[in-house]
Amino acid sequence: MPGPGNSKFHIEGINMQEDPAVDSYSPGESRETKILVSRCLTGYPCSHDGKGRLNKKIRRMVDTGAAVPVCPEQLAGLPSPREAAEIEGAGGAAVLDGEGRALARTGKDLSGAFVAGAQKTLQIARQHGCLKAVLKARSPSCGRGQIYDGSFSGRLKGGSGVTAALLMRTGIEVVTDEEI
Ligand code: SF4
Repeated sequence: MPGPGNSKFHIEGINMQEDPAVDSYSPGESRETKILVSRCLTGYPCSHDGKGRLNKKIRRMVDTGAAVPVCPEQLAGLPSPREAAEIEGAGGAAVLDGEGRALARTGKDLSGAFVAGAQKTLQIARQHGCLKAVLKARSPSCGRGQIYDGSFSGRLKGGSGVTAALLMRTGIEVVTDEEI
């Protein structure tokens, strides 16, 4: 479900769905705005199941230097593969505020790791001057607007992952890989 103003994601006037300038971008060119992206979208196997989630458009953005890949859960020191996690409560914003929890399927509380990963991701975003991010949909770290509901049953609820919530809280525009 596209969020407000996010049905198409524009970068410096570029429409990534249609603008040929994206494909003609050459490595080494300077670019005013770098985009933060979920690392698993480059195909890197950092997801909880030990696999990547390749999105060729995202991979190309990274390969050409237009985007910076990060995996918040990996930055938090969590291994891959790892237990699946979901957010209990009102979403990632609540976890940031200590009012919700990120829980592994076994019930292990991963809230501290998820918040640490979000903070490290924000630090990287700031180092690269990222004002926008394309993150993996529905992830308990990276999802925006919709995440799994904490029951590990495949049901969804409104809300964002912990990292997405922190980035948005600091003014970074976040869209999902399904919106570009
Ligand atoms: S934390 Fe984000 S980048 Fe890392 S595997 Fe999950 S969705 Fe991908």
